[in-house]
Amino acid sequence: MQKIGGKGLALARRLYLSRALGLVLGLLCVGAAMRPLDPEPWVWALMVFNGLIWPHLAFQLSRRSKVPLHAEYRHLLIDTLLGGFWVVAMQFNPLPAAVTVSMMAMNNVAIGGLRFLLTGLAVQVLGIGVGLVLLPPSAMAPTTPLQLYACLPLLTFYPLMLGWICFRQANALGEQKRELLALSRTDSLTGLLNHGAWKDQLDIEWSRCRRQRPGLSSGGAIALIDIDHFKTINDTFGHVAGDIVLRQLSKMLKQNLRAADVAGRYGGDEFCVILPDLPLANAARAMDALRERFSTLGYAQSPALKVSLSIGLAAFNPDHRDATQWLHDADQALYEAKTSGRNRVVCRAGGVQMKVLDAV
Ligand code: GH3
Ligand code: MG
Repeated sequence: MQKIGGKGLALARRLYLSRALGLVLGLLCVGAAMRPLDPEPWVWALMVFNGLIWPHLAFQLSRRSKVPLHAEYRHLLIDTLLGGFWVVAMQFNPLPAAVTVSMMAMNNVAIGGLRFLLTGLAVQVLGIGVGLVLLPPSAMAPTTPLQLYACLPLLTFYPLMLGWICFRQANALGEQKRELLALSRTDSLTGLLNHGAWKDQLDIEWSRCRRQRPGLSSGGAIALIDIDHFKTINDTFGHVAGDIVLRQLSKMLKQNLRAADVAGRYGGDEFCVILPDLPLANAARAMDALRERFSTLGYAQSPALKVSLSIGLAAFNPDHRDATQWLHDADQALYEAKTSGRNRVVCRAGGVQMKVLDAV
């Protein structure tokens, strides 16, 4: 069985409705212009085929094509070629001819941009040439009031439909862009901000703290949280168990932090948190409570597993040159927490160690 699908099928679907509407309204417009000219039966047959059968045939051909996108471009050029032919067949009747040419041009520029518009114009000239050979006009036909009314539905509804399609397309693209941006900022395992996105937030927070006048706010703190002996956990209980621990920690961060706090996964088994406008003593208590709670967690899949955290906390310091120095302070505190025995919170303020909170 032939596979139905491929690049451009969505475009073919979108164009199906607009082509079906545009060409049936076009039949009304061209038919009104052709009637007084008393054309031969084959011209009527071609008109009916173009207005009523071609849109459905074009869609079926696109659906069955290996690359529907290419088929759709071909079909747009066939539309344009026939448009050129009808301009001559109507004996250059000004209003229906102008409506036909401008609707085709609008279509082509909306779908394929300037280049496709120019290609379409060249094909339209070819259509005019074919028309001149098959139906040489005797004189230019004037537009009657009836023909003017027959053109109005095409003039009104077709641009409305094309505008609506373009609007929906732009909306869908905007939505996709937002989703991609969110994905590019998220750590896939934990759902927290990834390193880069969290660092951007830290830069923003650092600038905000710098702008605040001294005494107006405590400036807040940042924490680096690292799982103790995580490599051994992976080696003993397996990487799947390790992943569960990482997810559990991120869940606990999401559940226990304030709405204004910003948590991220710094990388590997290291997490990071911005705690805005929180005095260092309060930040230390919050982090110590987190450490305590995490160390008592049980894991159904690995009952013997117990996990502790080392946390480095650093207060905002107006003497820091940039956010990286603030981060360096937190890193230093984390290093001290690790080297002094793990499973503890070490705080630094003004570049010196202030406090150690641990399990004992
Ligand atoms: P310390 O107490 O000094 O922090 O020791 P540690 O073993 O936790 O430190 P180390 O940085 O050597 O180990 C981190 C380990 O984390 C190494 C790496 O294999 C593992 N790791 C990094 N990313 C992932 C992950 O996404 N899933 C799992 N399961 N393990 C990971
Ligand atoms: Mg570790």
